[in-house]
Amino acid sequence: MASFSLHGIPVSRGIAIGRAHLLAPAALDVKHYLVQEEHLEAEVTRLREALATVHRELQTLWNDLPKDAPTELGAFIDVHALILSDPMISEAPLDIIRTRHYNAEWALLTQIDELSAQFDEIEDPYLRERKADIQQVAERVLKVLMGTEPLPVQDDDDPDGFKAQMIVVAHDISPADMLKFRDRSFIGFITDVGGQNSHTAIVARSLDIPAAVGMSQASTLIEQDDWVIIDGDTGVVIANPSALVLDQYRERQLQQQRARKKLQKLKKTASVTKDGTAITLLANIELPEDCEAAMEAGAHGVGLFRSEFLFMGRAGSIPSEDEQFEQYRKAAEMMKGRVVTIRTLDLGADKPLDQADHTALNPALGLRAIRYCLAEPQLFLSQLRAILRASVYGKVRILIPMLAHAFEIDQALAMIEQAKGQLREAGLPYDATVEVGAMIEIPAAALSLPMFVKRMDFLSIGTNDLIQYTLAIDRVDYEVAHLYNPLHPAVLQLIAMTIAAGHKAGIDVAVCGEMAGDVKLTRLLLGMGLREFSMHPAQLLAVKQEILNSDLGLIMPQTRKILRAVEPNAIADAVQALQAL
Ligand code: PEP
Ligand code: MG
Repeated sequence: MASFSLHGIPVSRGIAIGRAHLLAPAALDVKHYLVQEEHLEAEVTRLREALATVHRELQTLWNDLPKDAPTELGAFIDVHALILSDPMISEAPLDIIRTRHYNAEWALLTQIDELSAQFDEIEDPYLRERKADIQQVAERVLKVLMGTEPLPVQDDDDPDGFKAQMIVVAHDISPADMLKFRDRSFIGFITDVGGQNSHTAIVARSLDIPAAVGMSQASTLIEQDDWVIIDGDTGVVIANPSALVLDQYRERQLQQQRARKKLQKLKKTASVTKDGTAITLLANIELPEDCEAAMEAGAHGVGLFRSEFLFMGRAGSIPSEDEQFEQYRKAAEMMKGRVVTIRTLDLGADKPLDQADHTALNPALGLRAIRYCLAEPQLFLSQLRAILRASVYGKVRILIPMLAHAFEIDQALAMIEQAKGQLREAGLPYDATVEVGAMIEIPAAALSLPMFVKRMDFLSIGTNDLIQYTLAIDRVDYEVAHLYNPLHPAVLQLIAMTIAAGHKAGIDVAVCGEMAGDVKLTRLLLGMGLREFSMHPAQLLAVKQEILNSDLGLIMPQTRKILRAVEPNAIADAVQALQAL
């Protein structure tokens, strides 16, 4: 097999070496996990029984056909019964379970995808249309399977070393689907589309698994089971590498593992610069369970809990106030009195409530985040009550995303008061001192800071969106990903202004966008006066190391020079020079 390489956008660091697993969009909707050797036959039986049930269903349908039913109806059922008995459906998926260890749903869909691809090649339009019948039959079987009890999966399941091998290759993965991979057995991700700071990329980073996006043709060029290397540092993907190249990457992988191990020693080290300035290091989380990694990395608290992930991947069904309360309480308790900053719902743009109603023309500029919440007051109030109720179990703060207008701040604050009133009426306790902060992520907000500092207890800069909106580039669109530049002078000015305004007003300012976890930018942010960084737990120790080696006395004057510079090359060179101080 010929070796070839592809270049995309690196989104999650490290090197992964494994076998390609091509994931079709449909496969993302069902559970997929690996089955242990001893359970394989039970899984085969589960699928066999589901196939037999559908057979019986079709038979009953046929028998119950009214006498005057159109003949096509009977023929239609016959076609489905024939498809179901064809070895391509009744046997091939069973082999996939046995050889690849996939669970029944996954095995069935893998086979259907392969068949669908073959059908797409057929010239005859009548035959080509039979693809829809195959898919309908598969859906029937899936429905039956979903009603049956799947095998219990354990975290440490590693059937025959399969876990150590698989790299997902897909055209696209939604953030909600990406989140489903957190307990699964993959060691890397490659997608055709996506930008560096799309939420899919952010979740991949939080899983701490090498990933590259924006690979354009990867899912068509890479074949099932091809050997693949992902260089998550450069965005290079190599398919079918030679033995020599494999050796080189294995060596680099080893070096990285050694470096990571060394970093672990910093877990308990205080986070202070060389000149003795203490820096707060917070964690970004998607689900309460991530608090474990945050504590493990020695985070001072949670700087950003992206609460919308509790709402996604549920086909539009919304978690109740009690359900949410349990989740927020869990996070508060797991952080043992450390601050937990819960961001209110940031739905919209690349995080729709339901993938199916992703219809806005310009979703990033549409009814997103606080705009959505103010338009759905009952939904917002129930989230606010849930957060407030959790506030008695730890040190909870509320963070509001996407604010731009004074009336939005005022309305959000008024609704927090309303939620408190409702809790008092219901006799439910909450912490009356809960702080409320604003995300500064729209340029308009960064340019009207007095309006914010007057009303808010703290600020958190969302550099991901701030860059997107300042430079007018969709953070999800790989075709403009090359224009996504955190070092653009306009972006740097807005960040520096926000930090300065917050400090002048005596309120805390954090950066919780991806810039906070980029070690190449740690010194620049320190030089701008930043004292609170919030990032994925996996990045925390590397940033701490950088902080320990930084001397603010040297960094600050150099940063002032950078902020006066306007030429991109001069800025990039000067930022690099900061590393040498
Ligand atoms: C940001 O915009 O920088 C941010 C932290 O929020 P999100 O990435 O969830 O939009
Ligand atoms: Mg944002």
